[in-house]
Amino acid sequence: DLDHPRRNAQRAYAEMEPMLERIESQRQELKRQMRVLADNDRMRREFTANITHELKTPLTAISGYAELIANGMVEAEEDQRDFGWRIYQEAGRLTALVNDILTLSNLDEAEHGDAQTAATSLGACEPVDLPRTLEGVEQRLEAVAARADVHFELACEPALVEGVARLIDIMVYNLASNAIRYNRPAGTVELACGQEPGGGAFVRVRDTGIGIAEEERDKIFERFYRVDKSRSKARGGTGLGLAIVKHAALFHKATIEVQSELGEGTSITVRFPPAALLQAPQA
Ligand code: ADP
Repeated sequence: DLDHPRRNAQRAYAEMEPMLERIESQRQELKRQMRVLADNDRMRREFTANITHELKTPLTAISGYAELIANGMVEAEEDQRDFGWRIYQEAGRLTALVNDILTLSNLDEAEHGDAQTAATSLGACEPVDLPRTLEGVEQRLEAVAARADVHFELACEPALVEGVARLIDIMVYNLASNAIRYNRPAGTVELACGQEPGGGAFVRVRDTGIGIAEEERDKIFERFYRVDKSRSKARGGTGLGLAIVKHAALFHKATIEVQSELGEGTSITVRFPPAALLQAPQA
């Protein structure tokens, strides 16, 4: 009985036992692979359904507002300006979403495809100066932070790593914009980088915000997972920021550690392996 090779194994010839064992282990392996494929397929379908929904929301808003204007329903100049502004904001949300989807799909391709294609779509590996990256992100987010009444602090020690500059920049940017978004008024975001005692380099983003409950700390890295959906959407998140951080870290063989205290704040550290460090900091 090849579907259940072990069932009658005691009645089989001793010479056949290794072959029956082999068939059984191959059968188990096939079952495992089929489960993985079914899981992947389910995740892919869920992701596609989520993307469709997330894209439709701003598109529906944009076409609704535009239709009202086109039909002459928005007469006052002030209202027209208000509708124009809303269309602009929804279009921005759409652009952010499309960019995030593209980055994630490039990262997926890099994980499953070949290194050459990855380098073309994501950018080549080169020396990346971490303090300069953190300073650049701070400059780009300064106005956003000021609007949220959040104040930046930089604590950068020299560290140069081998990596894809655009991806490391996106990682820091996503972590820092979350640290602003989930902060409180008069809160602080600290961007830090340097070398670990163990030999690798690190980037750490720390905030004084709402914190993340223990049971949510793994889930927040899943695509489109949000702890508080309405709050995250109201603050302009795409729901893909941390999924990108996770896969960009994987790409660099870096690890992510989340420390958080509800109501106190969150600290997320990305640690690059010692092999990625190009230059020991100057004393
Ligand atoms: P979003 O665009 O919704 O912010 P992310 O993937 O960046 O998507 O984050 C997923 C969820 O994790 C967020 O919706 C939020 O609930 C939670 N989160 C992320 N960063 C922080 C943080 N620094 N403090 C508290 N919660 C956070």
